This record gives sequence, structure tokens and C-alpha cells, in this order.
Amino acid sequence: MRSARAAEVAVVSLDRCDRCGLCLPLCPPAAIHLDLAALVIDRQACTGCRKCIAPCPVGALSIVHA
Ligand code: SF4
Ligand code: SF4
Repeated sequence: MRSARAAEVAVVSLDRCDRCGLCLPLCPPAAIHLDLAALVIDRQACTGCRKCIAPCPVGALSIVHA
């Protein structure tokens, strides 16, 4: 059963993200994915925990209201 959607979710600035992959293993629900073209955050899976935000070396991740 899918849990209730988080009140806040992470979003990525694709202009800043260099697809280094550092944030992927930091995400507890594995909501961050790299595909061939871009970083993708699954808004349904993201819990808004913020663990990915500070470690991004280029400041490409931020939190927004869902
Ligand atoms: S850590 Fe930052 S630059 Fe690296 S893949 Fe994640 S969002 Fe992109
Ligand atoms: S805020 Fe938490 S759950 Fe959402 S993408 Fe970042 S690490 Fe994953």
C-alpha cells in the first residue's frame, strides 16, 4: 500500500546537476534515479527527509512544498 504523499519533496535543478551520482545512495527510499538524460526524483517515493540536500556539491537539490 502506498503511504500518504509527503508534505515536502526534493526537486533538482537540472541546470546545476552534473549527474555525479553522489546523492543516489544517500536517499533512504531510493527515490533518486539517474537515467540517460537527467537526474530524476520520484515525487511519490520522496519523503522530504532532506538527507540529499546538503551533500550535493553544486547545490542542485532543494525542498519544495509538494
Ligand atoms: S549530488 Fe547533486 S550534482 Fe550530484 S547527481 Fe545529485 S543532484 Fe546531481
Ligand atoms: S529528500 Fe530524502 S527522500 Fe527525498 S530525494 Fe532527498 S534523500 Fe530522498
